[in-house]
Amino acid sequence: MLDAQALTGRSRSHVQEFVLPDGSHFLAHAQAGEALLALKAAAHAEGIELAIASAYRSFEDQARIWQRKWHGERILLDAQCRPIDHACLAPDALVETILEWSALPGASRHHWGCEFDIYDRAAMPSDYELQLIPSEYASDGIFAALTAWLDANMARFGFFRPYDIERGGVHPEPWHLSWAPLSVPALAALSPDVLRECITGADLAGKEAILAKLESIYARHVCRVASPAFALPAPPTI
Ligand SMILES: [Zn+2]
Repeated sequence: MLDAQALTGRSRSHVQEFVLPDGSHFLAHAQAGEALLALKAAAHAEGIELAIASAYRSFEDQARIWQRKWHGERILLDAQCRPIDHACLAPDALVETILEWSALPGASRHHWGCEFDIYDRAAMPSDYELQLIPSEYASDGIFAALTAWLDANMARFGFFRPYDIERGGVHPEPWHLSWAPLSVPALAALSPDVLRECITGADLAGKEAILAKLESIYARHVCRVASPAFALPAPPTI
């Protein structure tokens, strides 16, 4: 089981580097990374080049995104993707707005090493710029074949999509895969107390506003996720 440091991205002792044949690399928990490589090999046999846009991210990685948005150095979008004037937002509203499209540091599933944002490199023209938006993964989108193949095959490798539909928390992310044997126990272990201890001890902009509504953030942005629709194998030895 991941400890509190690993659950909140403050340690990387639970992840290792995977180097792919094309020279790219990613950080992931050993067992989750192996499962992803097996998924990738099976996809390859069907003409799909499963590539990784993001795997493990540390607390510091997520905090950098958070701080830039807090200080107005990075564009803020509302739930409908319309830009919002940073100067108009009081701290509480600023926290809510950042959470529309970015995870709270310490509360990102990417801290666990078993979460992957993926796309199909074989489907992309050489000049195509990856956006990671739902329309790319829809039945008429550039990654439609990837979506259909994952729908039929990912469960037998232990993967599911936690952000499958709108649940009033994190918006749908059809590119985000989770390896259930690790992520299901990780979600159960990431309690409000673990998250509060992490934020309380962090040097993070907006800390007071975050702590004032931490239970609500936890309920909406951590807990409102899909569960895998398959039985879990025996838990891995970590
Ligand atoms: Zn993701």
